[in-house]
Amino acid sequence: MGVAENLQLIKEKIPAHVTLVAVSKTKPDEAIMEAYRAGHRDFGENKVQDLAAKLERLPADIRWHMIGHLQSNKVKFLAPKVHMLHGVDSLKLLGVIDREAEKNNRVIDCLLQVRIALEETKFGLTEEDLMLLVRSDAFLEMNHVRIRGLMGMATYTENSNQIREEFRHLKRIFDRLKDSQYKNQDSFDQLSCGMSGDYALAIEEGSNLVRIGSLIFGARNY
Ligand SMILES: *Cc1c(COP(=O)(O)O)cnc(C)c1O
Repeated sequence: MGVAENLQLIKEKIPAHVTLVAVSKTKPDEAIMEAYRAGHRDFGENKVQDLAAKLERLPADIRWHMIGHLQSNKVKFLAPKVHMLHGVDSLKLLGVIDREAEKNNRVIDCLLQVRIALEETKFGLTEEDLMLLVRSDAFLEMNHVRIRGLMGMATYTENSNQIREEFRHLKRIFDRLKDSQYKNQDSFDQLSCGMSGDYALAIEEGSNLVRIGSLIFGARNY
């Protein structure tokens, strides 16, 4: 089946309030354009160089999501146009994003990545570090980043109970922030979790932003 058909099938399965980011990493422009012609506008990449190059070549009304780990020294390549940065996991990185956004006269929407997987992973903030970050003076002085919500990745496992627990944990942290630090900020409303294998489960547990690649574009060969 083609990209447009795959997209259609997934869209029929997800509720209207859930944003679908089509993860096009490693995929050619032609595949992206097939989705684009079917009306899709949100695409995700996990490498700065690839995202920057595709952003140059492809239609200007595409909303590009940077879903991978972001290094401080590469923020400048994305700052002019990126729609949302999903993997923000340190105050230092946020500071760089704030400066680069200011240079471009814009506010960049960011999601803070939380470490929810029980498996060892390098990326993501612990809940404690997250709470310290959003309350810190340095963060509160930043005017060119807007925290739209949280992002998380579950453990790579077949155990759906474990995945469910990890998503639930993320949702609990999201709700706690929503009831405290972000009580009066309606724009704190995005919970990014769920991929090809676990998006239905993620939506059941409160996700409203799923990042789906292989189910739309087919398996990747690296
Ligand atoms: C690749 C990737 C996805 C999509 O993975 P699929 O299993 O192909 O849907 C989602 N999120 C992140 C952060 C990724 O790197």
